[in-house]
Amino acid sequence: MEESTFYLIVYCWIATAVLIFPFVVRFAAPYGRHTTKSWGKLIDNRVGWILMELPALLVFAGFYLFGSGSHPLVTWIFFGVWVLHYVNRTLIFPFRLRTNGKKMPVAIVFMAIGFNFVNGFINGYYLGTLATSAEYPLSYFYDARFICGFLIFYFGMMINWQSDNILIHLRKPGETGYIIPQKGFFKYISCPNHFGEILEWFGFALMTWCLPGLAFALWTLVNLLPRALHHHKWYKQTFADYPAERKALFPFIL
Ligand code: NDP
Repeated sequence: MEESTFYLIVYCWIATAVLIFPFVVRFAAPYGRHTTKSWGKLIDNRVGWILMELPALLVFAGFYLFGSGSHPLVTWIFFGVWVLHYVNRTLIFPFRLRTNGKKMPVAIVFMAIGFNFVNGFINGYYLGTLATSAEYPLSYFYDARFICGFLIFYFGMMINWQSDNILIHLRKPGETGYIIPQKGFFKYISCPNHFGEILEWFGFALMTWCLPGLAFALWTLVNLLPRALHHHKWYKQTFADYPAERKALFPFIL
């Protein structure tokens, strides 16, 4: 593929994220607590999660590993952190969820497969085929973008994993109801799992300093900012004693 064609795809992908934001912010994506039958056929939640996330792991890894580029050393770190995140999200997280009997719309699964396919492709293809040692020399390991981006990614992943873990353990095995989370970053915001995930991918974008990384970070924000706002509203409507000082997504801000 011509490099110009590749970048055209990435610019279109970024433009799509910006254009759809005003629409997605208006409705709650119908999975988890917002699931609805009005989106057609439903599928088991756990199966849905595995199917949705698998392309992000396989497509990214395939395009990186089989790419015709020179695979500079630092790109293996980018590969490693992406795979670490998605091995957890695809192969571990779905089996830890206390989600027995819950379902999500098949339409959501297909949309997420498309989303993960494109993000896996643009990032895997860029790092596996287009990235050169001129962009990522050995000295890049000491570059402020790499160090800061890596730390932000790591910090975000720790918040994301801790928060996912707190949520999973709110329910006893077999339970399906909702409880107000109180531990960790939940003291400050309703959705630290989403906050951590956003930090991760903006850290990745900074660390890789490339357009595909930025595209994925923007898409993550476009997905998770509205979801956090809808979760926050739902918590306040559902629990009369919901902590008033708690924000939705960004501590002390929003
Ligand atoms: P949620 O917070 O909606 O749910 C996570 C799990 O915790 C679900 O099993 C949910 O149950 C359960 N849960 C949530 N709140 C409570 C509560 N108050 N009491 C009891 N159980 C609760 O997270 P998402 O499903 O939106 O996302 C899951 C992960 O995937 C997150 O880490 C998120 O960052 C990531 N993600 C990333 C995206 C991206 O664009 N990169 C997009 C979407 C998600 P139930 O399902 O029954 O509600």
